[in-house]
Amino acid sequence: MKLGCIADDFTGATDLANNLVRAGMRSVQTIGVPDGPPPEGAEAVVVALKSRTIPAAEAVTQSLAALHWLRAQGALQVYFKVCSTFDSTDRGNIGPVTEALMDALGCDFTIACPAFPANGRTVYKGYLFTGDVLLSEGSMREHPLTPMTDPSLVRVMQRQCRRRVGLIEHAVVRRGSDAIAQRMAGLRAEGVGIAIVDALEDADLLAMGRAFADLPVLTAGSGVAIGLPANFGIVPCAQAAELPPSAGARVVVSGSCSAASNAQVQAFLERHPGRGFAVDPLRLAAGEDVAQAALDWAASRLGDEPLLVYATARPEAVKAAQAALGVAQAGALVEDALARVSRGVVGMGAGRLVVAGGETSGACVQALGVKQLRIGAQIDPGVPWCHARTGEGRPLHLALKSGNFGTIDFFDKAFEVLR
Ligand code: ADP
Repeated sequence: MKLGCIADDFTGATDLANNLVRAGMRSVQTIGVPDGPPPEGAEAVVVALKSRTIPAAEAVTQSLAALHWLRAQGALQVYFKVCSTFDSTDRGNIGPVTEALMDALGCDFTIACPAFPANGRTVYKGYLFTGDVLLSEGSMREHPLTPMTDPSLVRVMQRQCRRRVGLIEHAVVRRGSDAIAQRMAGLRAEGVGIAIVDALEDADLLAMGRAFADLPVLTAGSGVAIGLPANFGIVPCAQAAELPPSAGARVVVSGSCSAASNAQVQAFLERHPGRGFAVDPLRLAAGEDVAQAALDWAASRLGDEPLLVYATARPEAVKAAQAALGVAQAGALVEDALARVSRGVVGMGAGRLVVAGGETSGACVQALGVKQLRIGAQIDPGVPWCHARTGEGRPLHLALKSGNFGTIDFFDKAFEVLR
């Protein structure tokens, strides 16, 4: 293993592994810290935690457990993967985990950079933009758990850290890796412990990659990963994304209610009339076994053409369900039903499964008993195909799409990519 990664959520881990594979690194994602040795042939292992919004002390404990496992397996550099919108509160968890990893590795300087220009996340003068607007003017302002109301990453990070937080500006970054390395040395001499780094395009990330070669640990979104594999002599190659051949019926399970997922579900239903089954949270709450109904419906239809089981709904319908059941209960009921559907359809012979939604993906992977995923070819930015084995040992191709990712034809495109 060359690069050891710790991701603070599940689909974020896949997003990171996807970028590493595209840069030529054979990558495996594990669900939590593994008990045994790493999978054979993996040059990068991404340990997926669910630590983004848990109490900071717990996030630190889990991240240190991941660190110790990665180091024991020979990881040469450690990458702490955080959200490209820097999802956190004033108490953490990005700052406390970064500092705990630095302390454990005896490291007095590192960087933090969530930029991912391909997905519209750029950093300029330390301010994070999502698309054309400041972080604080976009939808992250309203996030239920980690509302991001301050677009200055230097300020956000400083509130979470004991060490001094500084900035490497774009004027330096665009001059290339030597200039970045020089500025890192300068900041370190001034007593800065963590530097936010500007980036506007992939060239900036590639320059950073070279400059960060000797950092024992770094904190970043998935973007910075495109520049790191080259430091280990790795070049992009198709073999890094090779997965075993796929087989079995094709099914999509969607529990994401994002604008993108709504459009993708609609497009699928128009293209495949009669091939969709809607899961209604109000029927679940009334005690109906909707998951079983979905499985009975699917049993006679699994075949060549893909099927879709979805709870995806427009904001008005979601609000109505949440008003009736409570946000948490509506979410949990739907996640549980979709997880049972995933397990059921795989039991009936589905071999290619697309899951839409971050939390939904977590619930489905858990229900399937999947412990690790080998990362394959990209479908759309941030979403690759993966190969896994279920708890019963069945081989399975899985694509886990976080809410807002993917073009409108994502579901059909995903199955096309597997061909
Ligand atoms: P995303 O990646 O888009 O955020 P998630 O799966 O992480 O998607 O989150 C969506 C949440 O909404 C899940 O907890 C899911 O169970 C819940 N949900 C899905 N459909 C509905 C619905 N129709 N009404 C209420 N909640 C829903």
